[in-house]
Amino acid sequence: MNHCPICRGDMVQTETAQLRCLSCGYELNTTVEARVAAKIQERAARGLNKYGTTMERTDLSRLDWLRHAQEEALDLAVYLEKVMGMEQRKEVTGE
Ligand SMILES: [Zn+2]
Repeated sequence: MNHCPICRGDMVQTETAQLRCLSCGYELNTTVEARVAAKIQERAARGLNKYGTTMERTDLSRLDWLRHAQEEALDLAVYLEKVMGMEQRKEVTGE
């Protein structure tokens, strides 16, 4: 059972990709896109908290941004390779 982020009440699934709080009526969109958007917002808040910066920062050059992006892409490729290996082993061994 999911709990409401507002009042901690029980949330129920509705027919339209929503969770609705039984106590306060708060509705949470549960589509894939909404979950990704929420994670982007959470990450931005965490970055502001931890580093005191936002994407509006002006201290990085275009090349700095490109380097950050490439590092993230390289990490992504490594994570994908790792999980693909796990899936392939699962296909071979059935575990
Ligand atoms: Zn609630």
